[in-house]
Amino acid sequence: MKEIFVTSPTMPPLEEYIENIRAIWDTKILTNMGEKHQELENKLRSYLGTQGLSLMCNGHMALELALQAFKVSGEVITTPFTFASTTHAIVRNGLKPVFCDIKPDDYTIDEDKIEKLINKNTCAILPVHVYGNVCNVERIDEIAQKHGLIVIYDAAHAFGVKYKGKGIAQYGNASIFSFHATKIFNTIEGGAVCFDNKEIELELYRLKNFGIRNTEIVDAIGANAKMNEFQAAMGLCNLNHVESEIKKRKNISDRYRKLLLKAKGIKLNSLQKDVVSNFAYFPIQVNRHEYGMSRDELLAKLKENGIYVRKYFYPLTNTFECYKDQFNNMDTPIAMEISKKILALPIYGELEIKDVDRICNVILN
Ligand SMILES: *Cc1c(COP(=O)(O)O)cnc(C)c1O
Repeated sequence: MKEIFVTSPTMPPLEEYIENIRAIWDTKILTNMGEKHQELENKLRSYLGTQGLSLMCNGHMALELALQAFKVSGEVITTPFTFASTTHAIVRNGLKPVFCDIKPDDYTIDEDKIEKLINKNTCAILPVHVYGNVCNVERIDEIAQKHGLIVIYDAAHAFGVKYKGKGIAQYGNASIFSFHATKIFNTIEGGAVCFDNKEIELELYRLKNFGIRNTEIVDAIGANAKMNEFQAAMGLCNLNHVESEIKKRKNISDRYRKLLLKAKGIKLNSLQKDVVSNFAYFPIQVNRHEYGMSRDELLAKLKENGIYVRKYFYPLTNTFECYKDQFNNMDTPIAMEISKKILALPIYGELEIKDVDRICNVILN
């Protein structure tokens, strides 16, 4: 029985990558914002439709340094229905995460519940475009303007997503992307901050390179979050194929939708209006009573059939061991409920349609 995993990294043809890195053997420039780095920054700026973009060694450091570049202090309103990175980035910056609940249809922050959480210590909102679903960017923008807050989106899932014809990175003060191996576009490990402000560009540059301005002046307490040339080269190659990857995933998503639409007790991710999706994930909610089996039972049954799915996102970040007794997960009851029902099904370009059918057969029987 062929095993099927939840994802599989996209890789360019080996020859294409070798051709791309060949010049590095002449220049001996392996890192420190070399040619590949510059080229990838330029190409991504245009692909994502953003004014400013700064590459980072990974998405997590992009988040941590974005919070620093905007000098965020005090409290940050965010959601617990996300990857560990979002909450950790806030806490590791000495900031306090304040958890807002999510909406049951698209799993993004519930914009109607944000204002209640704002107080004099609130400095920023850090919403997540979870599974590539777009947050209510217009409402969030209004709220931020009214209260003078900074908005930084965790857009780690939303590479290539468009809303109302604009790249998703054009909303908010900044957006961060992850180019980790498991994401739709990868540089092996990598990430970026997108923004539209020249000062932030300089700030991020200093933060990712030890605060070194020139050989004699170090004027910021920076970290090291540089993307190296081999990562950038992987990005340049993968970028050539990202459109075709998204197209293949759309076919897979369409097939799942067709087969699972009428499955009793299985709720699909709702399609959003005005959004061009990247089909990065295929989450379902398993409703135990209607479906006749719990999420965990379905997961076990799929595993028996050689299909490895993920409880993405379970547990909620506000229930993590490391945050024991710090947060009350009953503040976010919808997120709590959904984290017990959610399951991410396999989706990646090379997944064959007959494998999608096999997965759906297990779910439907
Ligand atoms: C992957 C991910 C990150 C972190 O990105 P890395 O590149 O793995 O450091 C942050 N937020 C979310 C929602 C993610 O899925």
